[in-house]
Amino acid sequence: MGSKLPIEMSQIPSLVGGVLQTLANILNAKDFATVQMVITNLQQSIYELQAKNLESQEKAVELQKDLLRLQAENDQLKRKIDAHDEWEQTKARYAPHRTSDGSIVYRLAHADPLKQLFCARCFSKRLIVNLQPGAPGCVGCPECNGPYFKI
Ligand SMILES: [Zn+2]
Repeated sequence: MGSKLPIEMSQIPSLVGGVLQTLANILNAKDFATVQMVITNLQQSIYELQAKNLESQEKAVELQKDLLRLQAENDQLKRKIDAHDEWEQTKARYAPHRTSDGSIVYRLAHADPLKQLFCARCFSKRLIVNLQPGAPGCVGCPECNGPYFKI
């Protein structure tokens, strides 16, 4: 975002007032030099108004860009929050389980621990991976090729 000061909109009425005063001066002028001077002043006021208008438009474009950027950030954060909430709900259905060799694996919270076991290493990466039988009485993870655990 630019560091420009906000446009002083309060200056615009006085500029318009200046234009009106200039027009009144033209109507009351008695010589060409005075008319020429007030026309020059009028042109100067018009240029200042045009510059203010341009500055306002540039500021409006900057604000529009900021708004779009903030909306995109907001959408991204909402998606992250939704994904986090979804994982928290999924995670709540599992519980850690210590195998006979002391390793930690995961199991369904409300099921027989020997029915299905899940890899703790993958669980920490938000992946639910069934441990597969290997050597007799052992299971291992096909996803991360983790070590085999003795059930
Ligand atoms: Zn794994």
